[in-house]
Amino acid sequence: MKRTRFAPSPTGLLHLGHAYSALVAHSRADAGEFILRIEDIDRTRCRVEFETAIYEDLEWLGLSWPTPVMRQSERTDAYNAAIDQLAFLGLLYPCRCTRGEIRAALSAPQEGAAPPVHGPDGLVYPGTCRHRTMAEAEASDAIRLDVRKALDHLADRLPVFTETGPRHEGQHRIDAEELMASVGDVLLARRDMGTSYHLAVTVDDAAQGITEVVRGEDLFDATCIHVLLQALLGLPTPDYHHHPLIRDEHGKRLAKRDDARAIRRYREEGASPADIRKMVGLV
Ligand code: GLU
Repeated sequence: MKRTRFAPSPTGLLHLGHAYSALVAHSRADAGEFILRIEDIDRTRCRVEFETAIYEDLEWLGLSWPTPVMRQSERTDAYNAAIDQLAFLGLLYPCRCTRGEIRAALSAPQEGAAPPVHGPDGLVYPGTCRHRTMAEAEASDAIRLDVRKALDHLADRLPVFTETGPRHEGQHRIDAEELMASVGDVLLARRDMGTSYHLAVTVDDAAQGITEVVRGEDLFDATCIHVLLQALLGLPTPDYHHHPLIRDEHGKRLAKRDDARAIRRYREEGASPADIRKMVGLV
């Protein structure tokens, strides 16, 4: 059975871009199931009132989903189990670097060193803490995946995923060298959250049996991280459908701060769900 999902973070009101994403995910489930998941690991930015607004706005749009809804803030045990599994394989290390230290390490002139690269999470980590072991981890440390070791662990079993979205349609194989250079040692647990987006989304898509992950094109570059984690954790790899982003009249992608585009505002002004579908190009 096909199973898609919409996984918003309750850090603001849903805007037209979210409406589009949810509607596409819903329609791509066909006769299967559409799942709603609340991605609320960032306790400093998430608000219960935004979560309530998500349910109301999606219901108003005509969508329905099975309940109870999975909330990532209640999934700490599952994320810890995944961390333990990867630690057991010897693929993790604790990291105490701040963003400022990473920036400073990368800007120090080093002969022959490649210029700093921006990956899906910002600057590719220079590996300062890579020599540390999990045995010396402190509560205040973050945790990183040693990507070189992870790739060595998989050897020639490098994973492949199928993309069904328009821009990158086709089969994609994880490219070890590219992953090293453009992604690097990703954070799997942040000191303030106990997990990272990448780990949580991978664990939860598998736990919910998602067969096609539908989300915006901005997350395409992060997909190789999720597919790598699936291979390491022995989880199935779903198909991916990255859809184009809804942009404003200046071509800028909508942001949650962009309250004027909130579904709720259009509702208050008398728009119907059919009007919203039309606005995002789904008729
Ligand atoms: N929670 C993410 C967001 O609201 C979406 C993550 C995903 O779809 O993988 O941007």
